Amino acid sequence: MDKNERHLHQAPLPRVTCSGFGGYRRAEQDFIRPERFDGLKPALNANVATIAPRGLGRSYGDAALNENGALLFVGRLDRFLAFDPETRVLRVEAGVRVLDIMRMAVPMGLTLAVAPGLSDITVGGCAAFDVHSKNHWRCGGFGDWVLSMRVMLASGEMVDCTRTSNSELFYATLGGLGLTGIIAEIEIQLEILAGTLVRNKSDAFDGLDDLFRKFEDATVEAGHCVAWLDILNGRDPNGIVISSVVTNEACPDRKLSWGEMERKPLGLIAPFFNKLSNRAFNLMYAAKHRVFPHGDIDLRSFLFPWDALPNWNRLYGKPGFVEYQCCFPLEGAKRGFEELISAVARQRSNFPAYFAAVKRMRAGIGMLSFPIEGYSLLLDFPVRVGLFEFLDELDEIVAAHGGRVYLAKDGRLSASAFSRMYPNRDDWMKVRAKVDPGQRFSSNMGRRLNLGCR
Ligand SMILES: Cc1cc2nc3c(=O)[nH]c(=O)nc-3n(C[C@H](O)[C@H](O)[C@H](O)COP(=O)(O)OP(=O)(O)OC[C@H]3O[C@@H](n4cnc5c(N)ncnc54)[C@H](O)[C@@H]3O)c2cc1C
Repeated sequence: MDKNERHLHQAPLPRVTCSGFGGYRRAEQDFIRPERFDGLKPALNANVATIAPRGLGRSYGDAALNENGALLFVGRLDRFLAFDPETRVLRVEAGVRVLDIMRMAVPMGLTLAVAPGLSDITVGGCAAFDVHSKNHWRCGGFGDWVLSMRVMLASGEMVDCTRTSNSELFYATLGGLGLTGIIAEIEIQLEILAGTLVRNKSDAFDGLDDLFRKFEDATVEAGHCVAWLDILNGRDPNGIVISSVVTNEACPDRKLSWGEMERKPLGLIAPFFNKLSNRAFNLMYAAKHRVFPHGDIDLRSFLFPWDALPNWNRLYGKPGFVEYQCCFPLEGAKRGFEELISAVARQRSNFPAYFAAVKRMRAGIGMLSFPIEGYSLLLDFPVRVGLFEFLDELDEIVAAHGGRVYLAKDGRLSASAFSRMYPNRDDWMKVRAKVDPGQRFSSNMGRRLNLGCR
């Protein structure tokens, strides 16, 4: 037993209180931080009731919280292990950040094909939620680019899994909420990057028919596409479809930096962040895109818009906010959107949605992956008394249309709504029971959603 190992069994472990990015779910728990790969197994055997892996804690709700158990922080496992320039296959430890990979890949003319909107996130966290970008209909999710994973099971056994070997574990772990084992290493296929200058085109829409028509048209040519919606206006939703192409041009160096993110003192302006200021922002944002429908932007600002404001959650102050993201199947998406947006519009004075965006998705490959072939809608609500009950009503609409809510953004969905939305739940539970019969892995989310966690 080395020094690292001894302290896990003898000394009381440090306790930490932390929250998800939305700020409205907090938990106090033990904290285990292996400093290197060898420390993973002793950490797993620490004298704690249960363990939840944690990356950089950027999931919004309670996926990376474990009240009365322990968090196992994977961020120190951040070595680059191998890279083959011929095949463009990269092998890294799971605590490596998306930002670190981009720093390495972009100068070589390569990129991650799929990355979330903030780069200060671990690849383990990306795999555990099979995260998506604005190109899901074209490139799929993060998991589509994962070739293999090395997973430490509850027994301490290290298992390699791919699409063809230990494939059950592979598909249960991609999007598996950290409940099948600790992803220790990941092998990722990198993609060739045409250039670092991105060309955006904005197209205003008025009403949902226009939105879906313009989105479908845009996705024929564009590499990435997102629509921004104003639903505080009390009328039919209007907004902008922004379609983008990564050009083969290089962005001037001074504009493309891969430096660390700077936290801004946003807490100071939180009191002025309200429905009125958001309404004004929405009007200005729409006007800017109508006046300047074409624009070039550097790759980082495009792929990772939140890197400029990594702590923007502070704007919502202490109560926090819920990012409610749901996905509707293609057929009937419009009806689902109509019903959901009408419900949101009716309640806009009590529960205003400050930010809303739409993305086009295809089916995700993990058993619990969020995306289905269709459209996803994202809405940001400041937390207020009664909000969760209102969101339960939205869940009903989503489930009734065959849709689902994204768990990476969730901290309040009920177990019964979850079961209705995720038809592969029972199959996933069977894999979990096989790989973790003693329920060593757990989390607040796992308990809330009744995923066989103690
Ligand atoms: C500003 C912002 C923008 C975002 N944009 C997007 C977006 O565009 N698309 C999108 O899909 N998501 C997006 N997200 C969500 C984010 O990508 C996911 O929540 C991601 O999981 C966060 O990674 P993390 O390292 O912080 O993981 P954490 O939040 O720490 O953990 C997330 C889950 O992964 C599990 N986990 C972490 N590491 C491991 C491991 N090594 N082994 C096993 N399980 C592990 C945890 O147990 C937990 O269940 C965004 C988040 C923020 C804050």
